[in-house]
Amino acid sequence: MRCTACGNLESKVIDSRPSEDNSSIRRRRECLACGHRFTTYERMTDCPLMVTKADNSSEVFDRTKLMHGLIIACAKRHIAPSQLEQIADEIENSARNNTKNEISSREIGSLVMQHLAKIDVVAYIRFASVYKKFDSIQEFSDIVKGLSS
Ligand SMILES: [Zn+2]
Repeated sequence: MRCTACGNLESKVIDSRPSEDNSSIRRRRECLACGHRFTTYERMTDCPLMVTKADNSSEVFDRTKLMHGLIIACAKRHIAPSQLEQIADEIENSARNNTKNEISSREIGSLVMQHLAKIDVVAYIRFASVYKKFDSIQEFSDIVKGLSS
């Protein structure tokens, strides 16, 4: 945060509180160079991330649910739990980086598949088979063929 008086980048926070509508956080800062006090508004990082489902209803993003899906897909595949945490982090971050602060369950599913495809083919197929709810054996073998090409 640049000081509004002298432009110095270092300041200390002397007070912070949520804004009235709870969408941002108001911070009083004091410049470490000149002592000037100014106020900044930062978007709340814990503002809930919404997930839009196939039926157009939405729910608050649930990281536990995502981790659960990853753990099931990766069962007995010797993938470090930290690697799954990292996938969940990346998915959550990319969802939060869009301006709407929402993501569709479909996008989450395809992000998971992209990540799993890179680390473990079996985990990928397990996840994809649940996620895509294969209609036919043809569809399944198309996916498998796509992996080896
Ligand atoms: Zn200053």
